[in-house]
Amino acid sequence: MSTEYNKPLPVPQKWSREFWKGTKDHKFLLKKCKDCGNIDHPPYYYCTECMSLEHEWVEASGKGTIYTYSTTYMGAPPVFTKEQPFTLAMIDLEEGPRMLSRIVDALPEEMKIGADVEVVFEDVTEDTTLVMFRLVK
Ligand SMILES: [Zn+2]
Repeated sequence: MSTEYNKPLPVPQKWSREFWKGTKDHKFLLKKCKDCGNIDHPPYYYCTECMSLEHEWVEASGKGTIYTYSTTYMGAPPVFTKEQPFTLAMIDLEEGPRMLSRIVDALPEEMKIGADVEVVFEDVTEDTTLVMFRLVK
């Protein structure tokens, strides 16, 4: 953990605060609608399927597959330049939602559509833990 973290940080909202509390405990929580069972990620204020405001938080398996990805070799914003090349991927979570995240601990040539990934938690500040993924090798 670094106290000099200089990259953008999430700003928890009323409807996503529970998600960020979960990541601090290294739990990957998803917002599930109590009326229709839909799981949204990122969490919205209401259910994107039925507009319900009733929800519960369920712990995700942390497993998914890469739907698609993009590796940045150059041109990233200055705070990310030293980390190039890095890969962002659209990940189909086991529970249904498709989310954007970063793939860590892998070389660009290891990336593959359909590859299995699992969640990892990165404690970046005292208050913030980010969710990222790594390849299941
Ligand atoms: Zn719903």
